[in-house]
Amino acid sequence: MRILITGGAGFIGSHLCDRYLSEGHEVIAMDNLSTGSEENIAHLFGKPGFSFIKHNVTHYIYVAGPLDYVIHLASLPSPVDYLNQPIQTLKVGALGTHNALGLAMAKKARFLLASTSEVYGDPMVHPQREDYWGNVNPIGPRGVYDESKRFAEALVMAYHRYHNVDTRIVRIFNTYGPRMRSDDGRVVPNFICQALRGEPLTVYGDGSRTRSFCFVSDLVEGFVRLMASDVTGPVNMGNPLELSILGFAEKVLDVTGSDSQITFVHPTDERTKDDPKVRCPDITRAQTLLGWEPCVALEDGLRQTADYFRNTLGLA
Ligand code: UDP
Repeated sequence: MRILITGGAGFIGSHLCDRYLSEGHEVIAMDNLSTGSEENIAHLFGKPGFSFIKHNVTHYIYVAGPLDYVIHLASLPSPVDYLNQPIQTLKVGALGTHNALGLAMAKKARFLLASTSEVYGDPMVHPQREDYWGNVNPIGPRGVYDESKRFAEALVMAYHRYHNVDTRIVRIFNTYGPRMRSDDGRVVPNFICQALRGEPLTVYGDGSRTRSFCFVSDLVEGFVRLMASDVTGPVNMGNPLELSILGFAEKVLDVTGSDSQITFVHPTDERTKDDPKVRCPDITRAQTLLGWEPCVALEDGLRQTADYFRNTLGLA
């Protein structure tokens, strides 16, 4: 197959490039390198079947030749990034998805939207199932990301219904692993880098908020299964093991063997406004329809991620 991956130089995108190339497919990674990085795909340059196009998907997308899959990951998924670049976030979710869908339609390619658990907002249903419509504040600081992805899902379904484009939607819950940016502000790189540097782990609020963390190789396996399936409705992908953020901080200290302290901080900017109090995927749909569930234990995934930061940042 010939596969276009937008956001291909990002954290998840680069792992997906690796996977499809290892299976003998041709992969075109597209990225404007605003949050993705060439380092994530440096090992792929010169490999047969790999090419890279530097492009911002909010502008018309041109790709020569046929395409079998368009996998649309380009986005600014870290809260710190989308709070700093709110308009670009809205544009990439709306205009970028429109361009990527138009391309898929022109090439008669199967299309996948990387959506998010943020479509559920601060959820009133727990764990979250795909038939829950969510609780999003459209005018809050997270609204730029949440609503852009909700709009993107609506656009995907419109192309599916009106233009018969063969579409898939995955709602990604917190995912972690090597190639995350150390400075993307999310809890996994923050805590691991703080632990490795011997700095205090910054728990926002009282640490009672919950999340669940899926290792990137598990997510990639889910993507591959979803693309090979005929499931058009949205599918949650994430790890159903739910932890409080305080519990997660303790786990990071444990795995890294760090003697860092835990500190409770109360950011005064908008970072924690509308921060979902709980989040955990119900993955029954993925289990039943795709035979998929995560299999990497949190300790193993955290160890691999800590090794990555140790090596790339020289953190001993
Ligand atoms: N968080 C934290 N300390 C940090 C970074 C994040 O306590 O240094 C919290 C944040 O308030 C949220 C959770 O960890 O409740 C997950 O945040 P993240 O930015 O990773 O992504 P989110 O799940 O909110 O999209």
